[in-house]
Amino acid sequence: MKIFLGVLCLAAAALAQPQQYDLLLKGGHVIDGRNHLSALRDVAIRAGRIAAVAPDIPAAQAHKVVDVTGLYVTPGLVDIHVHVYAGTGQRNAYSGDNSVYPDGFTFRAGVTTVADAGSSGWRNFPDFKDRVIDRSRTRVLAFLNIVGHGMGGGKIEQNLEDMDAKATAQQALKYKDVVVGVKTAHYAGPEWAPVERAVEAGTEANIPVMVDFGSFRPERPYQDLVLKKLRPGDMSTHMYLGAVPMLDDAGRVLPYLFEARKRGVIFDVGHGAGSFLWRQAVPAMKQGFIPDSISTDLHISSMNAGMKDMLNVMSKFLIMGMPLDEVILRSTWTPAREIKREELGHLSVGAPADVAVLRLRDGDFGYVDVYGARMKGTKKLECEATIRDGRVVWDLNGITREDWDKLPARYTAQGDGRWDGTLGATVRGRRK
Ligand SMILES: [Zn+2]
Repeated sequence: MKIFLGVLCLAAAALAQPQQYDLLLKGGHVIDGRNHLSALRDVAIRAGRIAAVAPDIPAAQAHKVVDVTGLYVTPGLVDIHVHVYAGTGQRNAYSGDNSVYPDGFTFRAGVTTVADAGSSGWRNFPDFKDRVIDRSRTRVLAFLNIVGHGMGGGKIEQNLEDMDAKATAQQALKYKDVVVGVKTAHYAGPEWAPVERAVEAGTEANIPVMVDFGSFRPERPYQDLVLKKLRPGDMSTHMYLGAVPMLDDAGRVLPYLFEARKRGVIFDVGHGAGSFLWRQAVPAMKQGFIPDSISTDLHISSMNAGMKDMLNVMSKFLIMGMPLDEVILRSTWTPAREIKREELGHLSVGAPADVAVLRLRDGDFGYVDVYGARMKGTKKLECEATIRDGRVVWDLNGITREDWDKLPARYTAQGDGRWDGTLGATVRGRRK
């Protein structure tokens, strides 16, 4: 009788606990820098949010269970330097043909959030928003270029007349849901005005500034940029660019770089097609001048050369000796904080369910810098699955899918099979 009652109680408990989660990632190694977590954990998702992270969440509590044993489960990657103002038809410009539409390149690399680094300025930002930001499944944020016309190429980006701090700050405040910073880039002249006006706009709108220093000229030394001109929280991107004064004749990292970091200036990778040199990065990494944030500078040229994608850039830091937990931290929570989006880049309960499921492969791999020099390595990160707001948006090997011969005979009636909470319920319904 006692046993019978016990069984009844168990049954009642099961009834009282319906499948409360839409999706459960089971058996993976979770890396979440914000929550100081690097351990085996299950991750449960409900209604597009992280609902639970715990050592053993019962499979029966979820509509859909995905076995991620042997894989790493991380926050969706946050790439704060990309160029995605595509579709304008403008040739030879990042506000045009040099940009790419984000969704084709982000999800397959585990990236769920990007920040466009100044492809648009205050004048053409509404067009960028309409053309790309509002239509993308990737979360697209933006740095506004201090140049009103943004990265139109050539003389457009050299025009001091079009660098209006007030108008930039006003536009940033008007679109503060999306605009996360101010960018200055590609400037060739001797003046400090582009940097100073970007900082003025950033101060007025209370957002950080990201600097691509353009031509390095004696009239405006890079040392002054990071020691005097930038505020704490402002960013110097392209940190391993060949032009950055990095090493003395004996190969030691110059002390001013550590001083700048101590001041609170942030150093971001921004790999791109011209800004990542093994000869700068390897000695710098060995001596502790490591990046705050890892970013790609994704655009049409970089993605087909040494940069490739976010995971390829992250893998470069792995093979230079950065521990995996650090690589993930600097590609998720750290960049999210830099752009003051602290709701992103972690897997806390209640956070948007943006998740990357990564495989760390062992093998013989080669990594190429922007001048075509190779470094060999034995590690490579690969993206098995990406989840954006609780929905699977990339699935390399079908780990979130059913085997074809276990589905009902007429499974083609269920559309393209892209799984989400709704379709999961549909599959079960049709099996009856
Ligand atoms: Zn760029």
